[in-house]
Amino acid sequence: MNEQYNSLLKLFSAKKISLVAVSKTKPVAEILNLYNEGQRDFGENKVQELQEKVNQLPQDIRWHLIGHLQKNKVKYVASFIHLIQSVDSLDLLIEINKHAQNNNRFISCLLQLHIAKEETKFGLNEVELHELLNTEMYRSLKNIQINGLMGMATNTNDTDVIRNEFKYLKHIFEDIKSKYFSRRNHFIELSMGMSSDYLIAIEEGATMVRIGSLLFGNR
Ligand SMILES: *Cc1c(COP(=O)(O)O)cnc(C)c1O
Repeated sequence: MNEQYNSLLKLFSAKKISLVAVSKTKPVAEILNLYNEGQRDFGENKVQELQEKVNQLPQDIRWHLIGHLQKNKVKYVASFIHLIQSVDSLDLLIEINKHAQNNNRFISCLLQLHIAKEETKFGLNEVELHELLNTEMYRSLKNIQINGLMGMATNTNDTDVIRNEFKYLKHIFEDIKSKYFSRRNHFIELSMGMSSDYLIAIEEGATMVRIGSLLFGNR
């Protein structure tokens, strides 16, 4: 029994929040342990590592890609990926759509917003997000579905900074939902919160959290 896992599950299931277990750098045996406790959603940030793990683990795992995705790597995950959380450009979305078509399926995506102070974190800003959603090209993509937004807060101990970034992301989420997705019911996911800040993220409206080190130990 993984005590940490069970206490997180209790909290999340009461609030109907999805838990993505971030298994990057962790061996398949540890993933399998959590799988055997009932966990099905796992997140990886590198395509090659993901490919290697997929082949060694049960087929009913729902794999989430949470790290920056290069266009030339989309083809390696297109047949099986459950949710690409890190879409940060129209070009990438076009490529995902193409490979979804080739695989005769739809691929669900989240658009990643840059909300942190660090320059190094990937993602669109608010202006770019509107630009993308207003293009004819985006509207013509039939094999992708945007299920919501993802963001990472600044890596800081200042909880006010983190809270404000999550509030900002939630505000954008509601705005985008009402402007572009009001007649559809699939724009529902707000993926925010990691081991260090998931409690704040939940208070600010996360529907999905991505937790690694709290479940698997430090990397
Ligand atoms: C690594 C990672 C996480 C999980 O981080 P922890 O601090 O280990 O919980 C969440 N989201 C993204 C995008 C990550 O790269």
